[in-house]
Amino acid sequence: MTNPTLATVIEMERVSRTYPGDVRALREASVRIVEGELLAVVGPSGSGKSTMLQLMGTLDRPSEGVVRLLGHDVAALSDRQLSAVRANWIGFVFQQFFLTPHLNAAQNVETGLLYHGLSRAQRRRRALEALERVGLGHRVEHRPAELSGGEKQRVAVARALVARPAILLADEPTGALDSRSGAGVLALLHELNAEGTTIAVITHDQEIARSLPRRVELLDGTIRHDTSLREAA
Ligand code: ADP
Ligand code: MG
Repeated sequence: MTNPTLATVIEMERVSRTYPGDVRALREASVRIVEGELLAVVGPSGSGKSTMLQLMGTLDRPSEGVVRLLGHDVAALSDRQLSAVRANWIGFVFQQFFLTPHLNAAQNVETGLLYHGLSRAQRRRRALEALERVGLGHRVEHRPAELSGGEKQRVAVARALVARPAILLADEPTGALDSRSGAGVLALLHELNAEGTTIAVITHDQEIARSLPRRVELLDGTIRHDTSLREAA
């Protein structure tokens, strides 16, 4: 249940996204995420989950409706401002990790700080702290090919968090992992949330969704259910 005194991190108000060819991927979706939440956006393949994440993360603009990030209407921001918003306020984690193969773990994490005006030494220190935080302090010199899937995703989580964003958006973060590594990454997300990180996990997996405190359920681009609303009612 959401506490009205907490800051709203992301707010979507009757947001629709129609792709060329009249594909109505999201239909009048309204959702509010406040600081400190850990929630699942859950639904079957094609239900609009990634579309919703891209809109929340300002990677895409809505066809209709309003997306607000920390109170700022995304539509009013220039592309340049949106880049700054993404770099400072949002951390992304994707199923496929998207690590740079020739960089080691610490260097990959440092790429999350490239546009923050920090010295190399400061970037390095912050990257090492972030790797410690995800339990990879002993793997900082390893390149992605020398890491397990679960470790790769931990590096990606460290990179997403190193700039201390307002929210972590994770799209099927365990989708490419075996069940044990997946459980480890999920446990990490729980730990990070307990330390105060706001996290939205996009998943098609009902079991993962059930393990999270709040679930926003999507079907055919429509929010069918939001457990926080039921509890508030
Ligand atoms: P999910 O992440 O839940 O699997 P998506 O948000 O990726 O769903 O897709 C929702 C719907 O929109 C699907 O029917 C998908 O085929 C369609 N879609 C997604 N991206 C595009 C795009 N760039 N152009 C056209 N259709 C798209
Ligand atoms: Mg998807």
